Amino acid sequence: MKTDLSIHCLNVGDFAVNTYIVACPETREGVIIDPGGEDEKIIRVINDNKILPRYIINTHGHRDHVHGNASLSRHYRISTAMHVADQAFYKEKNLAIDIGLHDGDILTVGSLDIKVIHTPGHTPGSVCLYVGDCLFSGDTLFVGNAGRTDLPGGDLDTLIRSIQERIIVLPPETRLYPGHDYGPTPFSTLGREIKENIYITDFM
Ligand SMILES: [Zn+2]
Ligand SMILES: [Zn+2]
Repeated sequence: MKTDLSIHCLNVGDFAVNTYIVACPETREGVIIDPGGEDEKIIRVINDNKILPRYIINTHGHRDHVHGNASLSRHYRISTAMHVADQAFYKEKNLAIDIGLHDGDILTVGSLDIKVIHTPGHTPGSVCLYVGDCLFSGDTLFVGNAGRTDLPGGDLDTLIRSIQERIIVLPPETRLYPGHDYGPTPFSTLGREIKENIYITDFM
């Protein structure tokens, strides 16, 4: 069944993170995925589109993807959510995440069911968020590329296994919304990545 959703992508912060505001078109309830900074830009889009944020969800714990967690969770009085395996990154700064995510968890926002798919490799607690026919892939899978594995907790074999066993098994028409714009186009589909992404064509 096709789920309608409204998606706004903002490229923010020093590391040019894609922050996504995903909302249910009926109730206007939504989530902020990876608030990367420049809060005023994010708040403006939320206001202009009359979106009611319900959660902040981080695809993983790297600093560039959590930059706006504290300020925006306070501003909207909403909870933050991150996979349990990445919360150690965040604790280093004496900040806490409200909701510890696990594989298979579903966050319901309006008519949207946001499913958590644990895809370790870039970090131990990286997740992809699957909602409707869209996959928000964080730094696990980019257009034409994949996340680096040379940072603490990264592992290339684990990343390849995640892409192979958890991502490319989804329908090929799945729309891909990555955490950075590193490819020839900002967004893609899994069908196109299966044909063109070197991490899939060359590593599997
Ligand atoms: Zn990262
Ligand atoms: Zn990143």
